[in-house]
Amino acid sequence: HEGNDILDADQLHTYYGKSHILHGVSLRVGAGEIVTLLGRNGAGKTTTLRSLMGLTPPRQGRIRLFGQDVTGWPPHRIAKLGVGYVPEGRKIFGHLTVHDNLRVPAATTGRWTLDTVYDLFPRLAERRTSKGGQLSGGEQEMLAIARALLLNPRFLILDEPSQGLAPVIVDEVMKTVVAMRDEGIAVLLVEQNAWLALRDADRAYVLGDGEVVHEGSAAELAADEERVKALAGAS
Ligand code: ATP
Repeated sequence: HEGNDILDADQLHTYYGKSHILHGVSLRVGAGEIVTLLGRNGAGKTTTLRSLMGLTPPRQGRIRLFGQDVTGWPPHRIAKLGVGYVPEGRKIFGHLTVHDNLRVPAATTGRWTLDTVYDLFPRLAERRTSKGGQLSGGEQEMLAIARALLLNPRFLILDEPSQGLAPVIVDEVMKTVVAMRDEGIAVLLVEQNAWLALRDADRAYVLGDGEVVHEGSAAELAADEERVKALAGAS
């Protein structure tokens, strides 16, 4: 390990009640990387992200973020360290306007402000007075990412951003993810669509039944079509 890790999660064991879901998951995200976490339905991808964010804390294992041991920290403290989390299903406020959704995060200073996120997503600027619930799926995803950016994160965690989006919008979202990485924000991306994620990611982990069943370079994995199909259930 290079010592400049953004995330270093070691041997996480996570439960829902008595159900043992993660069986010793270890993963690493380095500075400047897009890392994708793949796997079939129910493999434990969302549970891994929830573990990292402190939403479903692991009962065993250790989590280091930016070199600091954050094991057992509550979600708000982890977010405050500079981790932006865009959950599955986006969780925007449907009854609030776009603009009010963007005013929910506590103001931070840095690259991302209301003005600069509207520059990044002109569509959101056009729809600033629309209610969150009236937006298309793609617009809601952009709103969720914009809201996370306003915290000026050093690390962005995205849970299935492509879910329910038309292919052309998915491309736009992935371009944004690459742009974030190129600006120095490390990204951990959960995707059901393995081919999509492997195209832009630097490294990949594949989960199967709560365990890491493969890790390596995204390009190498993408080149092995049969393996991707077998491991990640991609068609
Ligand atoms: P998907 O792509 O369907 O979201 P996933 O890889 O993200 O799948 P998880 O959502 O992490 O998988 O689920 C892992 C396992 O944990 C599944 O067997 C699921 O049924 C179970 N599980 C998820 N949430 C809960 C919960 N709140 N209580 C009990 N079991 C849960």
